[in-house]
This record gives sequence, structure tokens and C-alpha cells, in this order.
Amino acid sequence: MALIIQKYGGTSVGTIEKIENVAEKVIATKRAGNDVVVVVSAMSGETNRLIGLAKDITSTPDPREYDVLVATGEQVTIALLSIALIKRGYAARSYTGSQVRIRTDNAYTKARIMDIDEQRVRQDLREGRIVVVAGFQGMDEDDNITTLGRGGSDTTAVALAAALKADECQIYTDVDGVYTTDPRVVPHARRLDKITFEEMLELASLGSKVLQIRSVEFAGKYGVRLRVLHSFQDGPGTLITYDEEVENMEEAVISGIAFNRDEAELTIAGVPDHPGVAYKILGPIGESNIEVDMIIQNIGADGCTDLTFTVNRNDFAKARKILEKTAQELGAREVTGDDTIVKISLVGVGMRSHAGIASTMFGALAKENINIRMISTSEIKISVVVGEKYLELAVRALHDAFKLDQKPAA
Ligand code: ADP
Ligand code: ASP
Ligand code: MG
Repeated sequence: MALIIQKYGGTSVGTIEKIENVAEKVIATKRAGNDVVVVVSAMSGETNRLIGLAKDITSTPDPREYDVLVATGEQVTIALLSIALIKRGYAARSYTGSQVRIRTDNAYTKARIMDIDEQRVRQDLREGRIVVVAGFQGMDEDDNITTLGRGGSDTTAVALAAALKADECQIYTDVDGVYTTDPRVVPHARRLDKITFEEMLELASLGSKVLQIRSVEFAGKYGVRLRVLHSFQDGPGTLITYDEEVENMEEAVISGIAFNRDEAELTIAGVPDHPGVAYKILGPIGESNIEVDMIIQNIGADGCTDLTFTVNRNDFAKARKILEKTAQELGAREVTGDDTIVKISLVGVGMRSHAGIASTMFGALAKENINIRMISTSEIKISVVVGEKYLELAVRALHDAFKLDQKPAA
């Protein structure tokens, strides 16, 4: 008998009819002789609705209470799915994150899972029940409710799979696997049969929301067999796997294109250039818990420096305020900013052994007259920042330039 963890995302449980369909799928897995633990998200749109309610009161809701609020979305779907399973004659039991003791740290709104006491789930499985667990939530050491960040139900599923040593963790969603890029932007994007953990981590961290990055980290660390599948269409999906298991590795130089729309850039110009200037500029930003992503510094002939960096769009206004204060203190010429930018990234482990990827990338963007504002590279990725109005055009041009719609030759 195998133990399967299945996670169904928001659109897959977005209506009662869909929840009933999910119940049928879960039952089919159970009837095939497996033990099943199901993790569900809130109904699609519900988490956003709840966040909106809090924001109607204040733009900076108390983080503890924010988590108490947004965790309710998943409590609705665990109960509804269990009701649908029980109606069909199957023993099922729903649990919130705290009921199954998903222990997290106390970083409200983006908590990390530390530990899961899987005894209760095991007992239910032994007694033949289907166990339904709320995604996205846990509790800290002092029993406060916490949430795991947007998309966090993926991480709940993988963490449960690791704790229970499940045979497979299946992430069911509204696409039938991981594609060479978001199929909503490039309709002829290609589904990948397999992708390495390393590449999936990179894609997730660079904006592909198909899996939350922490779920991929967890799966890689604990060796969880992780697969992305369509909730309501049959198919093999995409297996996230180790390098050795991927065939034709060397042929696929680029595996995928990720993009992130949540970007903003800030520039502080004409700063008298002394040792420690970067620290003085970026220190206060970091101290305010704002993450800085790309950084460019140019030193002018006049002994002054310009520094440009990117932050998450949500942090733009706050970062700008801090930067303006720093500019005054340092006697800088001006602060400018733009929150209509996006980051587009090419990812592929094959880049390690292939030259010329960057020039093909820049050439494809030049051909479409798309101005590159920033560039950053690492061993297996190249990212560029462009104006947001070019996002679709740029992603399509790159997808074509690297012929990602075609399977690499064996
Ligand atoms: P769920 O609610 O099931 O968690 P998400 O919206 O979080 O679903 O993730 C699925 C979505 O991820 C897809 O609808 C698709 O638009 C998007 N996506 C982004 N990049 C990719 C990619 N490379 N492959 C597949 N889907 C992607
Ligand atoms: N409901 C949460 C969200 O919308 C968690 C999830 O769906 O994974 O972010
Ligand atoms: Mg998701």
C-alpha cells in the first residue's frame, strides 16, 4: 500500500461542484489501494478577499491578527471536502494546521515549518480514514496561528509528505504540469516531463508561481517525490527530480523562462563616492526588512556614484521614503524610482557548459526594440529588467529565440 499526499489549489476547490469532483478523485486514489492525505487551499479568490477586508481597516494590519484572518479560508475547504467524502461513504476527517501540530517559527505572514507531529495523521490512516489538512497554516511555539506566505499550501503538502515519508506528493492545479514558461503568456509553451530540483528552485524564486519556492526546497532536502498535475485532466504531469534522472540533460540548455511582475527600481544619483557608501544606502533598507534584489553601481568621472537597485513593488513606497532620507544625509543629487518594471529570467543547468546564451538573449530583445535596464547572471540563470509593457513581447521573443516549444533532440 502506498501513501500519497495530494494537494489541490484554489481554482481546483473554487466551487462546490469542483470540491465534489476533487472528492471523486481522492476516492479513486483510495480505492486503488492507497492511503491518502489531502491538503487543500482556500477557494480561489478567498485569500485575496480576506486580505482586502483587513486592508479596508488599515494598510498595515497587525500581523498576528492578519494570520488569524487569512487562515480561515482553508478551514472552509477542509470541512467542505470532508463533508463531500463522508457523503460518499468514506471515512474522512479534517484538521487545521494547528490541530496536526504543524509547528512553525513566529514570523507571521511568512512563517517557516519547523516540525510536524505526524502521530495523529498516522492513527487516522491506520483506522482507514482519508485525512484532509488545511494548507498554508501552522502554529508557533506559543500556539499562535501562523501562515506560510502566498502559495504556502504547496509547502504544507511537501512538509507532510516528508514527515510521513509518503511515496509521492502530487500537486494538483489548473495546468497539467510545469511548462517552459507560463502558458498564460505563451500559449504554445511546452510541458516538461521532468525538471531538476535545482532548475525548479530557480524558476520558483524568479517568479514562476506554479510551486511555492519553499515547497521545492523542502522536497529537495528530504527527497520527496514531487509531481505537478492537472486537477481534472488525466496525464503524466511533471516530475521534479534529481539531475541523474533527467534524460537528455545536456541537450536542454534552457529549461524555462520565469518572470516577476512584482518589481520596482530605485536610483540614488550623484552621491559623493567614499568607502562605505553602498552600506550607508542599503543598510537602512535592509534594517527595515526590505529585500534588495539586483544592484548596479556606476562611478562617474566627477567622483560621484549612482546606485540603482530593485525591491518588491509592495515595498516601493517605503523604500523610497528611506532612500530620500539617506539622500539628504549623504548630499546626493536626486532619488528617482519606477514601479512599472518586470524581471525576466532564463533558467537552465545546461548554461554551465554552453557559451553565447546571454548574447542570444540580448539579441532577441534588441530585435524587438526592448530596452534592457538591468542584467544579472548566475551559473544557471540570466535575468534582465525591462519595462512592464514589454513583458509579454519579451517572453514570447525569448521563447522563440531558444526554440523552447521544441523538444531538445535526444
Ligand atoms: P494553485 O491555486 O493551484 O496553487 P497557482 O495559480 O498557484 O495554482 O499556480 C498555477 C499557475 O501557475 C498556472 O495557472 C500558471 O498560470 C502559472 N505558471 C507560471 N509559470 C508556470 C510554468 N512555468 N508552468 C506552469 N504554470 C505556470
Ligand atoms: N490560500 C493561500 C494563497 O492564496 C495559500 C495557497 O493557495 O497555497 O496564497
Ligand atoms: Mg499556488
